[in-house]
Amino acid sequence: MPTRTDTTTTTTIASLPVDPSHGALRPLALSQVTIDGGFWADKQSLNASAIIAHCEAWMEKVGWIGNFDAAVEGRLPADRAGREFSDSDVYKLMEAMAWEIGRTHDDTLDARFRALVARIAPVQEADGYLNTRFGRDGQQPRYSDLQWGHELYCYGHLLQAAVARGRTTGDDEFVQLARRAADHVCDVFGVGGIESVCGHPEVEMALIEFGRYTGESRYIDQARLFIDRRGHGVLGDIELGSSYYQDDVPVRDAEVLRGHAVRAVYLAAGAVDLGIEDEEDGLVDAVAAQLARTVARRTYLTGGMGAHHEGESFGADFELPSDRAYSETCAGIGSIMLNYRLLLATGDSTYADLIERTLFNVLATSPAADGQAFYYTNTLHQREPGSIPAADVASPRASSSLRAPWFDVSCCPTNVARTLASLGSYFATSTAVGLQLHQYAAGTVSADLASGRVAVRTETNYPDEGVVRVVVTETLTDEWTLSLRVPHWAGEAATITVDGETHSAAVGMVHIRRPFAVGDEIVLSLPVEARWTEPDPRIDALRGQRAVERGPVVMCLESTDAGHVSTVDEVRVTGDLRDDDGVVTVGTRRLTVSDDAWPYGVDSATLDADTARVRLLPYHSWANRGPSTMRVWLPLESADSVSTGR
Ligand SMILES: [Zn+2]
Repeated sequence: MPTRTDTTTTTTIASLPVDPSHGALRPLALSQVTIDGGFWADKQSLNASAIIAHCEAWMEKVGWIGNFDAAVEGRLPADRAGREFSDSDVYKLMEAMAWEIGRTHDDTLDARFRALVARIAPVQEADGYLNTRFGRDGQQPRYSDLQWGHELYCYGHLLQAAVARGRTTGDDEFVQLARRAADHVCDVFGVGGIESVCGHPEVEMALIEFGRYTGESRYIDQARLFIDRRGHGVLGDIELGSSYYQDDVPVRDAEVLRGHAVRAVYLAAGAVDLGIEDEEDGLVDAVAAQLARTVARRTYLTGGMGAHHEGESFGADFELPSDRAYSETCAGIGSIMLNYRLLLATGDSTYADLIERTLFNVLATSPAADGQAFYYTNTLHQREPGSIPAADVASPRASSSLRAPWFDVSCCPTNVARTLASLGSYFATSTAVGLQLHQYAAGTVSADLASGRVAVRTETNYPDEGVVRVVVTETLTDEWTLSLRVPHWAGEAATITVDGETHSAAVGMVHIRRPFAVGDEIVLSLPVEARWTEPDPRIDALRGQRAVERGPVVMCLESTDAGHVSTVDEVRVTGDLRDDDGVVTVGTRRLTVSDDAWPYGVDSATLDADTARVRLLPYHSWANRGPSTMRVWLPLESADSVSTGR
């Protein structure tokens, strides 16, 4: 079952979130990648010190964990709290805890994990069924609502949590519980069983990973059945259309991701996993083509996905409104999961480019600076300052003015927690002959190549600064290859210095193959200074606007920093952009428009003669200073038909 040696334990456990049987690149375990300084170390510390405990406390408070107690005590359905899928968030929390225990060996957290297992285990029925929402007297029968019931979705998160537990701690009671649930799914939904699927994809990639973990093919066979059944109208039509849950077109035939964005990326991730295990290149290629079109036409500058609040769904090509962006945090995380699988399968660094963009601008944006509140949706344009959500009451999920401590549907906070806890694995990979660095943070990476172990130490203040120093700390007598990603945004301005000689480094992977010595230093210099970014002219919602990016970080204008206007919508930018050691400012003028009875044929707009320099801040850090208005895309002064005061 375990596949590689973990240096922190005497057993052979490899703490891998994803472990495909083959691919261009091999994943590295959490024990092989440490992040110990800078931006992502701070986020991981925040997760450990605040986010995980916050999620646990809220799920106790709102009764989602208590649902398991109520089941044992015979108080269901009367005392059931939360939506039909609330069990899944308890499992996502447990996945976060499991990775965190694996990362930090925190005994207190391990005790909390075991306490949750002790409350959940007695709820499992003799045949493996486990759900607090269905199947009891007074509740809907099991599997009577596959469109909306989320029973298989909940199992998916249970299995992912079990994989995390098994690969960090071992095959304990929780893993065995999950195995009984997985066997139950195979028994009930296998050949000759219920020939349907879950309205919310998730169990597919979870079954495949559980199959990889256990070495048992029946779980992968079941995932194949689910993936093959979907797309043939098996769930029936609904008001939102069967594309909402990707039941309109078989996954191999689809041309683009569509419908509910989280469902779409979760299904796509499972399809890549299946294509890898079945060695069906056509399936991997089909998903890769769908993603490529989605990235080119249906993705926000932040990497966010989902342009419609209705159905939490993708819009049409180039339909990407800033002020109604849904861009759910979970869709961004699902995109990271999908891109990581394709990175492992193909070795193509463009997947790591989108992972970086989404990490810095969706994942990092969701949690507040104190880890006590989260964005569910991630708007790119806040028109009204909004109000501070109540500290002690769950918020509607799409109230996007300020981060909220918890939501009626609270999938995002636990998704943030499990991703941050397992983040290291996304940063580097290996092959038989080399080590690849895809994301940059201060820390260490080691890998076992065919002829032995190599390791490097990275020092950097990335992304504040663009210099990344990589020092070889463990090497081989043979030559091997160290590869570093040059992000697409770097254009032609990146350089790499080896043995004191500096060369330009083209976008993609730069490969250094040689017999390294301990102490050898490679320095990658990336041009992180602020730059203007223009939108594709087919995105109507962005015409006449520009954004500012700094390295991988999308910048924004928050009204808190623009005292000369009452709202950021009065700001027009002049094109004057400065970056003084990370302090990014733009020249602006104030646009004044008088209120008319009719908002068309306006001829009363005036642009101030005076300019004011206004500071931009990273989008991920906005809304940490109280209610404000905010824009990512900034209108150019030349785009308005105005009379100027000049
Ligand atoms: Zn979510």
